[in-house]
Amino acid sequence: MTIRMQRLTDRSKREHLLRWLTIALLLAPATLLQGREIVIKDRQSGAAIGHLSTIQAGRYEFIPLSAFAEAIKIPGAINSSRKQFILQIPHNPVVVHAINPFVRVGTEWRQMPIAALILDGEYYAPAVYFLDIIRDALPFRLDYLSGEATILITRSRMGVGGIQIDDMQNGTLIRIALSQPINASNLFLSETNGWLYADLYGGNIGDFRADAARKNTRTIDRISTIQLSRDTARLGFRLLKKVKEREVKVIASPPEIQISLRTHEEVPAALLDELEREREKWKIDLIVIDPGHGGRDPGALGSSGTREKDFTLKIAREIKRIIERDLKIRVLMTRDSDKFIPLVDRGKIANRAGGKLFISIHADSNPKKGLRGHTVYFMGPAKTEEARRVAQFENSVIKFEDSNSKYANLSETAFILAANAQNSYNKESEEFAAILDREMRSRQQADGFGVRQAGFYVLHGTSMPNILLETAFISNASDEKLLGTRGFHMNVAEAVCESIRQFRDHYENAL
Ligand SMILES: [Zn+2]
Repeated sequence: MTIRMQRLTDRSKREHLLRWLTIALLLAPATLLQGREIVIKDRQSGAAIGHLSTIQAGRYEFIPLSAFAEAIKIPGAINSSRKQFILQIPHNPVVVHAINPFVRVGTEWRQMPIAALILDGEYYAPAVYFLDIIRDALPFRLDYLSGEATILITRSRMGVGGIQIDDMQNGTLIRIALSQPINASNLFLSETNGWLYADLYGGNIGDFRADAARKNTRTIDRISTIQLSRDTARLGFRLLKKVKEREVKVIASPPEIQISLRTHEEVPAALLDELEREREKWKIDLIVIDPGHGGRDPGALGSSGTREKDFTLKIAREIKRIIERDLKIRVLMTRDSDKFIPLVDRGKIANRAGGKLFISIHADSNPKKGLRGHTVYFMGPAKTEEARRVAQFENSVIKFEDSNSKYANLSETAFILAANAQNSYNKESEEFAAILDREMRSRQQADGFGVRQAGFYVLHGTSMPNILLETAFISNASDEKLLGTRGFHMNVAEAVCESIRQFRDHYENAL
């Protein structure tokens, strides 16, 4: 027989010495007696499943741990160098130190009033205390009827009744319905290779089939069930998202396990709303076509007496007709008659109606009569004298307005900076301009001047992507003739319509 003290830092040496003396006295050879026999029975069947030959030391009764482990069908192991007996309960190993009253149960240290002992290589623990401190770690119910020298084992057949998985606003909730309540210490969660496992100690898969689980989730795509051992049911959940945090609740009535998973992809409700608004913003469901000039403002004049304002209205009407016919998108015109509308009001009309794209239609004019073709402008600091000149001409319309104080105090640069700060659609405007330039180019003989940027008052303040299209040069004799033909109006309308289709597909699909 070996008796040895284990050093413990949190206890005073004096206390240990005293305890050691007590144990030594208790276990003095004279007081060690062969004890009685305890029978271990299965409560349901009444059958004896094991016998324990005890040792009596004073008033304490000790049970042999190897025989106990064998009877309850939980593997036991001895670590002789450390003087330990280990009852290998999955996830909750019980480690008994010989000659030490502390027992580790899972991760917890528990204390018996007296230590275990080793006798002829077998480990013994004081029956009443030992059975009491390991009780909640066992996968079955254990009752020690000391007076009857009987240990009763009641194996639960805790079945899995159902699994329901739902994506909630803040993650995913797994609910496992059980036939009986589970002790929290008999539930073990682990994550390996993209699977989340829930091991139910004392659980029984029985007839439950994984495909009976009800899923309403984008977090878990597969469920598996397996009876790992006689006492352990394993439920596996394959994760499609990384789990950031999980929380487990064990509910007694009705018996249920709730596992909440918070995933990285969690999207707060506010953000979802924001995204929905963003989608709505990009849903191209209203186009605003702005026929340049009108009423007392004729725009540029052609050599044969034509007026820009008449061409822009005809082209705009054709654009409206083609878009509504081919794209089934509503089109609003800032004017549909020969009337004067201040530049600033054109943007307001578009904003009020909730337009998603603003296209201002014009015809160019230049002292160089040879210039032909289209130019697409978006709002930005003019990079060439030519672009600046065009913007100045289109902006000069304000001389027809009753009050031009709105723009009077702004330098060109200040105006563009203010306009750009106000308009968060510059990138989209530029993209749309590029698409439209390509479509115009493919339908015209003259190459045109591509995409340019300049500061146009009419584009200022429109809260949607916006561009200004100079369709052709009214100052050029050939272009002037073209501007008067239905064929040209239709070409421009088709170019605009096709550009909107591409722009819409790009933005609506991006979100
Ligand atoms: Zn114009």
